[in-house]
Amino acid sequence: MSQNVFQFIDVQRVDPPKKPLKIRKIQFVEIYESFNQAQVGMQADRCLDCGNPYCEWKCPVHNYIPNWLKLANEGRILEAVELSHQTNSLPEVCGRVCPQDRLCEGACTLNDRFGAVTIGNIEKYITDKAFEMGWRPDLSKVVKTDKRVAVIGAGPAGLACADVLARNGVTPVVFDKYPEIGGLLTFGIPSFKLEKEVMQRRREIFEGMGVEFRLETEVGRDVTFADLLGEFDAVFLGVGTYKYMKGGFANEEAPGVYDALPYLISNANRLLGFEKAQADYIDFAGKQVVVLGGGDTAMDCVRTAIRQGADRVICAYRRDAENMPGSKREVKNAQEEGVEFMFNLQPVGVELDAHGRTCGIKVVSTALGEPDTNGRRNPVVIEGSEQVLPADAVVMAFGFQPNPQPWMAEHGVELDSRDRIKAPEKAEYAFQTSNPKVFAGGDAVRGSDLVVTAIYEGRKAAEGIMDYLAV
Ligand code: FAD
Ligand code: SF4
Repeated sequence: MSQNVFQFIDVQRVDPPKKPLKIRKIQFVEIYESFNQAQVGMQADRCLDCGNPYCEWKCPVHNYIPNWLKLANEGRILEAVELSHQTNSLPEVCGRVCPQDRLCEGACTLNDRFGAVTIGNIEKYITDKAFEMGWRPDLSKVVKTDKRVAVIGAGPAGLACADVLARNGVTPVVFDKYPEIGGLLTFGIPSFKLEKEVMQRRREIFEGMGVEFRLETEVGRDVTFADLLGEFDAVFLGVGTYKYMKGGFANEEAPGVYDALPYLISNANRLLGFEKAQADYIDFAGKQVVVLGGGDTAMDCVRTAIRQGADRVICAYRRDAENMPGSKREVKNAQEEGVEFMFNLQPVGVELDAHGRTCGIKVVSTALGEPDTNGRRNPVVIEGSEQVLPADAVVMAFGFQPNPQPWMAEHGVELDSRDRIKAPEKAEYAFQTSNPKVFAGGDAVRGSDLVVTAIYEGRKAAEGIMDYLAV
């Protein structure tokens, strides 16, 4: 670390510059430029190296943050990348998509008065730079066992589980119904936050580590769960949450009304060349689009519509700006790119034209009532406040719930009252389900959450599996 303990006063927190708006509005490329080594050194040097680093505690995978900041500051990238992979299977992804303001950076001692250390961007830099330098995980000293584990789902939970198993001599075989790995990292989160090449590079790294992927293979359709239980020593379920929450208002099934995820997936398929038919692509070019919802998925939809060339894009949310669940950073990015925000509006029905197609969304104004038991102020409708927002396309971004698959119950995998797989962390074998041979983690266990929490659970479940297999 620097000799100047007041570096954090002399050097301000700096984020990497954003690409020009004229590029951001039309291209599906990450909007942030990368740091260079000199910028990383300056920013990492602001770390106070606190005795009890709150950032580490708040980071769900408990990264050794001050330690790799110090190595990055000294240009010791290969040591930094080894250290960062001791706790995180996809550090370059977390550096890009974690809501750092709520996690590591929010807990940084400097956050309140001086500006938190830019932890996420340095984490991203370390891995990107190491890959550029030719670094690959070294598994040459790993002693192979004869154990094989089926991992269902190539999202962050499944990949993290496979990563830890492979590093401990257990062979993972990962099944996914999609044609590329990543789950929502590839098919949900748009390229302006996480470019598709990042996961394609990771696939090569995992394959080099001995992880086998069987893609375009849906368990329950192309292969039975019973067969996997018979063939493998254990099974991990990282199947995510794919039931779309509906608004419950009139005409929400009408042509021109879309669920958020199929919309984002259709755009990802186009970018990746996986589109099967032209008609599968949902194109908002030249349209008036209203996205309903105020979370990160809504932000991803509005910003995708802008890049597709929509005429006008509105985000309508039923609470106020203060109470939006989405990351403030992403809201600001959306505003810069031309999205209009309309607050305190609740949808009541889709308006249809003479052909039965969507031509608007009827909304009512709301005021915020008293806080509920969770402390959130619920919107209360203001009588007589109806208005229609013109729209050719309406997107519902109301969140996701688990979608239990029939083969789970058939094989004794129990669910809780909200259809989440029961797999407690604090059990004899971490994240074991009610079928002893089956483990689970990520969104399917916690409900829709974050990439980094899915990674944590996948890694811990791998430890549970290894304890169970006694390897
Ligand atoms: P998923 O990523 O959903 O992966 C599950 C995988 O299982 C999928 O690939 C699916 O195809 C596969 N699968 C399911 N059933 C089967 C079957 N029967 N056979 C074979 N394969 C199967 N989090 C953040 O931290 N930051 C963000 O910026 C962020 N943005 C988001 C944006 C959107 C639009 C969405 C929807 C989510 C976002 N999230 C974000 C949340 C994050 O993506 C998820 O919490 C995380 O991906 C969950 O990981 P997972 O591995 O549990 O599930
Ligand atoms: Fe911060 Fe996420 Fe990285 Fe943890 S994994 S240090 S929370 S960016």
